[in-house]
Amino acid sequence: MLKLLHPDLYLESLFDIDPELLKKRGISALIFDLDNTLVARGENKAEPEVLEWLRDLRRHGFKLCIVSNNSRGKGGRLARILDLPGVFAATKPRRWAFRKALALLGTQASETAVVGDQVFTDVLGGNRMGLFTILVSSLGGPDFILTRLIVRRIERLILPWVTGRGRNSFSGIRRENRG
Ligand SMILES: [Mg+2]
Repeated sequence: MLKLLHPDLYLESLFDIDPELLKKRGISALIFDLDNTLVARGENKAEPEVLEWLRDLRRHGFKLCIVSNNSRGKGGRLARILDLPGVFAATKPRRWAFRKALALLGTQASETAVVGDQVFTDVLGGNRMGLFTILVSSLGGPDFILTRLIVRRIERLILPWVTGRGRNSFSGIRRENRG
């Protein structure tokens, strides 16, 4: 169970994702969390840097989509702004939405990475599915209230552990072989 909370990669920023490194690892598609990963929660627009970065990933040949626990209405509007397909009301860490996303992307779990800011939804759900998991720092928008009161506190306790003995970040891929 605890192993399922370990991301394969922990990065301080979304923009630290290295497309060439992912390609070498056999990754051809990325599933993004939405709130506080691509867009600060509560915002109704995307930052130009994020839009440009998504275009850049597409130019590198990656297939992209969103899996969000946010609603179809609100999440869907943001996804249209980001020009990404998505699965909403996803109830991560449950697996069905990731399965649906893989069907949308037309990729296998082994060639797909999930990128998100939360250990108990994005990383846990992704690891359960056998995806390559990338934990990024939260963009810092206000979390959903239960997330703020409970989940983030637990995350703070375990983050030094899941990201590698207290180091805040590292680059490169930590685990070549998933156990
Ligand atoms: Mg999030």
